[in-house]
Amino acid sequence: VKSFDIIIVGGGVSGTALLYVLSRFSSIKNIALLEKHASLGSVNSKATQNSQTLHFGDIETNYTLEKSVKVKKYADILKNYLDENEEKHKGIFKVYPKMVIAVGHAEVEELSHRYEEFKKLFPRLKRLDRDAIADIEPSVIAGRDPGIPILALYSDEGYTVDYGRLSKAFAKDAERDGIHVLENTKVSAIHRDNEYYVYTNNGLFKAPVVIVTAGAHSLMMAHPLGYGKEYGILSVAGSFYHTPKILNGKVYTMQKKKLPFAAVHGDPEVHDAHITRFGPTAKPIFMLERYQYGSVWEYFKTLGIGWKQIATIAKITNDSIIFPYILKNFFYDWPIIGKRLFLKEARKVVPSLKAGQLRYAKRYGGNRPQIINLDKKTMDTGEAKIIGDNIIFNITPSPGASTCLGNAYEEAQMIMGFFAAMGRREIFYREKFEKAYIKNHDR
Ligand SMILES: Cc1cc2nc3c(=O)[nH]c(=O)nc-3n(C[C@H](O)[C@H](O)[C@H](O)COP(=O)(O)OP(=O)(O)OC[C@H]3O[C@@H](n4cnc5c(N)ncnc54)[C@H](O)[C@@H]3O)c2cc1C
Repeated sequence: VKSFDIIIVGGGVSGTALLYVLSRFSSIKNIALLEKHASLGSVNSKATQNSQTLHFGDIETNYTLEKSVKVKKYADILKNYLDENEEKHKGIFKVYPKMVIAVGHAEVEELSHRYEEFKKLFPRLKRLDRDAIADIEPSVIAGRDPGIPILALYSDEGYTVDYGRLSKAFAKDAERDGIHVLENTKVSAIHRDNEYYVYTNNGLFKAPVVIVTAGAHSLMMAHPLGYGKEYGILSVAGSFYHTPKILNGKVYTMQKKKLPFAAVHGDPEVHDAHITRFGPTAKPIFMLERYQYGSVWEYFKTLGIGWKQIATIAKITNDSIIFPYILKNFFYDWPIIGKRLFLKEARKVVPSLKAGQLRYAKRYGGNRPQIINLDKKTMDTGEAKIIGDNIIFNITPSPGASTCLGNAYEEAQMIMGFFAAMGRREIFYREKFEKAYIKNHDR
């Protein structure tokens, strides 16, 4: 049995961010990170699998002010890390302009209200009229009906991040004696005795504290230990379409009321500004990990099969807005008809877009593990953290990548609490972390 102070399960951006924070800003000596794939950041954190956006909450009209306050606080931490390490880790991120557009009287009025409500939190946010939008994003205005009013909120800080590369950068920055990153190491079970025993294809590991950052699989690992039994997962896959460069930066549209997922948007690829990416779609799938068909049984193992599950899914989807939305999203991945349907959505951003310019991005788009509460028959749209006895399980739909360092900062403090309760003194050098990454940034 290999023994550590802490074991982190899962080497996406959440697990590696925590590894980095504990390695550089705590007294904890021996930490193992176990990742089942051959490379870190290769599932939802991979650049092709998510929308590559550092969400602050300024142009995301699906966020309330309260949610934006929290997301901004944590996203600022990552922004500071990225800015500081730009030279060291070249090519992890790019900064493009970004905006959200409101089209028609009702949307313009709503966005104007939102601007008044949010401008204090985001002082760098600017209102743009039609001409100013055309200066920055000509394709958004070309071919648009001049009789329909349009307004945009704009910022020059459209951080676009390769979260896969960021995962590797965190692990690199964490390197020191006592830090062990083990790839190709798949956790099959976690048992608890006086400590946690972690079973893998690469041997048996033990530690008094375990943090599980395995995406949807975190819930699968929580259930046998008696945690999160009231929860299941609704896996929502997101696909993308490519066009040749048609936008200079990120362009979001206004969120439709009641829909839990961000409306389709367009933005440049992080590593190639000559390609514009539109998406993501939102299609429920019965898998814990997209493209891994072996995870179908894991999905049903985690959700369970019974009336409670059927009743919960029926209650969530039985809605005159949500049901047609889900149905439409099923077809976006289909050849020909998918493109035709998606073109309608993408034209909300670029009205003159032609079908011939759109190309389905094959094997792009990961899975957003949305938590459903089987007792309350509801769906939670945000990230979920199940805190157990010296163990934490993180389930991370969007914007889990944006908040990865903030979550790690929060978790480092919980971990010190775990050790203190065991009568063991470990220190999180909180002031040092805050000095490095929590500054007063306005945007
Ligand atoms: C379509 C889409 C768009 C998104 N857009 C954005 C965005 O623009 N901005 C944003 O902030 N977020 C976005 N997200 C969310 C973001 O991608 C995730 O929140 C983030 O990548 C989660 O990181 P993670 O490390 O928690 O999970 P993952 O990156 O999925 O990593 C989990 C890791 O655990 C490993 N693992 C699983 N099981 C085991 C096991 N048994 N043993 C060992 N290892 C295991 C996996 O191999 C994987 O490497 C988007 C997600 C999707 C799907």
